[in-house]
Amino acid sequence: MTSAARTVRVFRESGSRKRLLLDDGVRLLDLSAYLMQKGQPTDLLGLFEAGWFDAGQLNARLPAEDWDDWDEWTPVDIEWDGNAPPGVDVPIDPRDVGKILALGKNYRAHAEEFGEAVPAEPMFFNKLPETLVPHGVVVDVPAWYGGRFDHEAELAVVIGLGGRDIAVEDANEHVAGYTVANDLTLRSLQGSDREKRHPWFRAKNSDGTCPLGPCFVPRDFLDISDLRVTAQVGETLRQDASTRDLVVDVPHAIAALSRHLTLHPGDLILTGTPAGVGPLADGEVCTCAVAGIGELTTTVRRTSHG
Ligand code: ZN
Repeated sequence: MTSAARTVRVFRESGSRKRLLLDDGVRLLDLSAYLMQKGQPTDLLGLFEAGWFDAGQLNARLPAEDWDDWDEWTPVDIEWDGNAPPGVDVPIDPRDVGKILALGKNYRAHAEEFGEAVPAEPMFFNKLPETLVPHGVVVDVPAWYGGRFDHEAELAVVIGLGGRDIAVEDANEHVAGYTVANDLTLRSLQGSDREKRHPWFRAKNSDGTCPLGPCFVPRDFLDISDLRVTAQVGETLRQDASTRDLVVDVPHAIAALSRHLTLHPGDLILTGTPAGVGPLADGEVCTCAVAGIGELTTTVRRTSHG
């Protein structure tokens, strides 16, 4: 984190346009138009690789907050609520996501709600890129499944620079930026599979169980040391914690993972969920939020009678 504390949030439009839009804290700008004019890459990972998100570079390119002569930038004239413009896609193109690695029991109070201790070593499982869905969608619970289907609000890390055996002190260099994930979980199935000593795989990889978004925030524009992480269902605040309570912080997670496997640009790390996970009923709307990033809203549809 540099002194550059101004807001930078990048959205990727869905549908045929697929424009990148940039919220600079004052207005929404057409980032794709700017990049094309400058002959720059028009994908987030390419921009990271080109150093485009470094605070020094990006601050020099953005219009000043009180600047209304748009110069090289094209403002986007659409109605939006300040959280996300209508019709956003997953902020990182799922085709660029090789793997989603998730930390289990990484908030002490969440481990305790299952009567368990925090693992002595970081505990990881994985989700498939096929589980990714954007902000604002309806997720269908498999019709055969009548058990608990839980929300899990999480800070998600986007890897920008790959590597193996990454040292804790170098880990930050490998982060492109951050977004919000809802690690939706078939909790009852997870419990019964765990009793059979089967992996968590099925419980974590049903279609649509990784809502991600609404936007991407470049690393230099977010201090993640003390961010509020929440999940709200209807009027009820179910999860509410701070990233300062992470057992394994982001640099240590990157170091631990990269001792075992090579991280690649586009890989995602879900940093674990706070206490307060709970079931979602048919029609319920769950909003997972991380302060400084945004609110990720998902509606659940259940067709079973379980
Ligand atoms: Zn999780």
